[in-house]
Amino acid sequence: MPTLKKEVVLSGRGIHSGAAVKIVVRPFDRKGIFFHRIDIPNSELIEARFDNVGDTKMRNTTIGMPGGAHVQTIEHLMAALFISGIDSAIIEINGQETPILDGSAAVFIDAFRGAGVTPGKMKKIVVRRPVVALARDVRRMLPLGLRIKLWFYDLMSGRRSDGYVKLVPNDGGALDISATLVYREKIIGRQTYEYKFDGSKQSVADFIGNIARARTFGKYSEWEYLKARGMGRGADETNVIALNDAGDGTLNALIWPDEFVRHKIIDAVGDMATSGGMIAGRLESYKGSHAMNNVVLKKLFSDPRNYDIVECETN
Ligand SMILES: [Zn+2]
Repeated sequence: MPTLKKEVVLSGRGIHSGAAVKIVVRPFDRKGIFFHRIDIPNSELIEARFDNVGDTKMRNTTIGMPGGAHVQTIEHLMAALFISGIDSAIIEINGQETPILDGSAAVFIDAFRGAGVTPGKMKKIVVRRPVVALARDVRRMLPLGLRIKLWFYDLMSGRRSDGYVKLVPNDGGALDISATLVYREKIIGRQTYEYKFDGSKQSVADFIGNIARARTFGKYSEWEYLKARGMGRGADETNVIALNDAGDGTLNALIWPDEFVRHKIIDAVGDMATSGGMIAGRLESYKGSHAMNNVVLKKLFSDPRNYDIVECETN
């Protein structure tokens, strides 16, 4: 049960709420990542598990009990815990959304690795049978009003809902991710990135060097639309790559030309970490989303023949 050697404190603003928030990530003696909303009296612990994911709408992963306390935008924090080898922690949070910091996973990872992690056994979930989540199926699960909005959004932006997220068996030694983005905006276009995590120091270093700093992104012209709907209120040029209206450039400098798809790897790693262990299998994400990542995990765990659970040592 690897956990932190000492607590980590981070403050910032939520990217959607815009609200100031502080998190204290503490060592914990129970397996699992738990959130504790300290701004809500007598709030229960919320475990960051796929079956507690309530609302992924379009742009973030939110966990919480139906009608109860929730925590929004957990994916970058979850990716950082996973890459740091932590599967046990309690996160005190004084608001509804984690701090976005620089829009990537890098600040979280630096803080966790700086605090140190205890050794222990991690759970490995070996994929035995393929499972797939189609964008179309995920859409059908949404309320009608939201489906109409998304349909309209697709029409306006020229997007097609032909995406999918698949989990298929590999040799059982690694989480092997292939992510592809397809955007009409020329600056993104079609980008593919592959990343393999096998728990080795090399795969951790690869994530830190080539993926962790990739920021989230959005169209500058959409910010007003989102802000009017209570989303993206904390978004600015320090934490989001802003695409220009023509879609052929960005308002802030890119770290890599394919920073967009590298960020998708962070999101996928964070969402897979809500499995409660390391998924050992190949994750193929084509125009994937948080909602599809969640549905593919639900499908995986819906039938015990789809997976095996084994324990593995961490270093
Ligand atoms: Zn993200």
